[in-house]
This record gives sequence, structure tokens and C-alpha cells, in this order.
Amino acid sequence: MNTDKLIAVIHKIAAKIEEEKAFLTELDNVIGDGDHGINLARGFAEVEKKLDGMAGKEPGDVLKTVGMTLVSTVGGASGPLYGTGFMKLGGALKGRAEITVPGFLAGLQQAIEGIMQRGRSTKGEKTMLDAMIPAKEAMEAKWAETSDARAAFAAGVAAAWEGVEFTKTIAATKGRASYLGERSIGHQDPGATSFTMVLEIVANEV
Ligand code: ADP
Ligand code: MG
Repeated sequence: MNTDKLIAVIHKIAAKIEEEKAFLTELDNVIGDGDHGINLARGFAEVEKKLDGMAGKEPGDVLKTVGMTLVSTVGGASGPLYGTGFMKLGGALKGRAEITVPGFLAGLQQAIEGIMQRGRSTKGEKTMLDAMIPAKEAMEAKWAETSDARAAFAAGVAAAWEGVEFTKTIAATKGRASYLGERSIGHQDPGATSFTMVLEIVANEV
């Protein structure tokens, strides 16, 4: 994937987030403070304003700008966490004109580590990590097996949705949902859901 394609994909992500804004906010209403969709939509609207000026840049620099924009425009937990994810992904792709599957996977690993560090969180706490980590592992396995980018992304999306389902079964121990403790069981995590939607958009474009 080159920069032109990446920019087109980011526009599609922004459109998807806008489309799912109410749903994501509703999910957050149940176990958080009801702003997840609004937060992300605001951030991606700001990101979109910057995309036209990014045409000649490397993909990694575009992704870093996306991350910095999310950090600076989105309040709450998800701005800094999503922002860190995009910045780490961008940093891992430095110096490359194209994003390859191995490059993306290395970047996703960095993104996961960055979010874990910034959020002081890990797998099994009912957060976006519960979609991200299984997605990355499934993609890695499918890629090793087939060297087929589409198959790898499809496996990643399927694993991410399974991760979203898994978040329904556990209590939150990080973020606002942790205030509900056991009462958060039965509800899916908004951040895991939005991550999976984003990955699905990328997968559709591969
Ligand atoms: P806020 O919780 O500040 O209102 P959002 O509603 O936008 O922010 O985002 C909530 C999402 O952020 C959660 O659904 C969860 O996936 C993610 N999240 C919250 N805290 C953490 C954390 N410490 N580590 C990883 N993800 C987190
Ligand atoms: Mg919230």
C-alpha cells in the first residue's frame, strides 16, 4: 500500500467512524460515559482536514500525523491511546514507500506495546487490546501459512470480532468501565469494537 492508497483508506475509516458514531457512543453509554463515537468522529474529522496536504509524504509520516492529530483533538482515554497506536505504527514504517504485510504486522506489534505502556493495560481487561492482540496473532499465523495478504487480513478481522465477543464475558479493570466492575459483564467494549471496524475497513481495501 502506497501513500495515495493509504490516504484513500483513511478517508474511508473516517467515513465509517462517522457512520458508526451513534452505535459506538451507545456502547459507551452502557459501560462508560457515552462519548466514544463522538470522540473518534471528532478526531477523524480533524485528521481528514490534514490528508490533502500529505500526498507527497511517506506512509509512515502520514500515520504519525494521524496519531498526533488524534492525541491533540480527542479527549478521554481513546485519543491518547488510539493516537499512540497510529504514531507507533507510523514510526515502525519509517523510510518505506509502501506498507507491506510484514511491515504492518511489525507496526501493529509496536502499536500494541505503545498502548499497553500508555494505558498501563494488558490483554483480558476489556479494552481495545482484546481485539488488537488476537487480530495481530491471527494475521501473523495466516500470513506465515499462506503469504496471502487478503487471507491474513480476513483472519485478523475474524479474530478481532471474536475478541469483541470475548469482551462481553469479562469485567473491565481499566478505563471508565472499570468503575462498574462486575456489572460491565455482558456488554461489549466500545474501543475493541471501533478497532475492529477500522481493521475491517483496511481489510476491505487490501
Ligand atoms: P473515555 O473512557 O475517556 O470516555 P472513550 O470512551 O473514547 O474514552 O474510550 C473508551 C475506550 O478506551 C474503552 O472502550 C477501551 O477500549 C479503551 N481504553 C480505556 N482505557 C484503556 C486502557 N487503560 N488501555 C487500553 N484501552 C483503554
Ligand atoms: Mg467514553
